[in-house]
Amino acid sequence: MTPVRLLAATLVMASCTVGESTPLEGDPAELSPNAAAAPPATLVWPVLRQGASNRSVVAAQYLLRDAGQTLAVDGSFSAGTATAARSFQGQSGLAVDGVIGSGTWPRLVVELRQGDESAAVSAAQDLLKNRYGKSLDVTGVFGTTTATRVKAFQTEKCLAPTGVVGLYTWHALIAEASYCAGSGSDAGTILASHQARTLTLWDQTFGRFDGADPLSNVRDAAAGRPAKTSCYGNAPCTSVTLSPRLLAGMAQLRTRYGFRYFVTSIAGATHSSTSLHYAGRAFDIDEINGAKIVGDSTASRQFMAACTALGAIEVLGPSNDSGHQDHIHCGW
Ligand SMILES: [Zn+2]
Repeated sequence: MTPVRLLAATLVMASCTVGESTPLEGDPAELSPNAAAAPPATLVWPVLRQGASNRSVVAAQYLLRDAGQTLAVDGSFSAGTATAARSFQGQSGLAVDGVIGSGTWPRLVVELRQGDESAAVSAAQDLLKNRYGKSLDVTGVFGTTTATRVKAFQTEKCLAPTGVVGLYTWHALIAEASYCAGSGSDAGTILASHQARTLTLWDQTFGRFDGADPLSNVRDAAAGRPAKTSCYGNAPCTSVTLSPRLLAGMAQLRTRYGFRYFVTSIAGATHSSTSLHYAGRAFDIDEINGAKIVGDSTASRQFMAACTALGAIEVLGPSNDSGHQDHIHCGW
C-alpha cells in the first residue's frame, strides 16, 4: 500500500468514526413523578421495513437524513429508504438488514433542545403535528413554540416537562408509549393509539349501543374493570376480564408491527356459543391500514402471521376459513 492510499484509508476511517452514532441513553430525570415506577428495561420500538407507509417512516427518514444519509422524506419505506437504512446500520456497527427496529431506533434518535436546527428536529415536529395534533410548523428549527409543544406532550405522557427531547420522549413519540402509571398498561396503549387515530376501536356493537363495544371494552380494561359482553343472539349477557395476553397482542400489533386496524368486536356482539370472545380472549378486525378486508390479501396474511407470532392460538381469516372472508379473528 502506498503512503497516499494509506492516507486515503485513514481519512475514510476517520469520517466513519465521525458519522458513527452511539445509542441515546435513557435518563431517569426525563420521567415525571406521575410516571410508572420504572421505565421498561427494554423499550419496544415499531419495526419498519420496505413497504411500510406511516408517520414513523417519516420520522425515520428525517433521522436518517440527520445521520448524513441522502433520501426522500415521503413517508413510504421505499428501496431508497432501505438502502439508506442499511448504509446507516453499516456505519453504526449494527446488523445490516435495512429493517428499522429496536436495535436501530435508539441509534437514530438524538437529544434535541431549543436552539437546535436539524432534520432530527423536523422528525420530532412532524410527529407532534401530524400524529399528536399539536399546532406547530415543521421547520427543522427548535424554537419556543416547539419547546412549548414538547413540554405539553411530555406532560401528557408523564414525562418531566423539560422541553428536551431525550430517549423516553422519542420513544413516546415514535412508539406511542405512555409513561403514566396505570395507563402505561397495554389497555392504555391501545386507547392512546385510538386517540391518536392510528387504530380504531368501534364505539358501537354492529348498530347497538350496549356498552359491550370495543371502545367501552378497552376503556373498562384500562380502568381495571371487567368488560361487558352483549345480551343478544348467543351472547351471555355478563362481563369478563379481558385477557392480558389479548391486550398485549392488540397493543403490539400497533406499536411493534405498525398495523392500523379497525376493531369490530372484543367481548361484545354475538358469536358461536363457545367463542373465545365471551372469555375476553379474542378480537375481530375488518380493516387493515385503511383498507377493508375483502378476501385473501398480503395485508391480511401479514396481520394473521403477526397474531400467531404474538402467541394467538386461534387465527382465522380469508386465507384459512370460508366464514372469515371479510374479517380476521385472533384469539389467545
Ligand atoms: Zn371473532
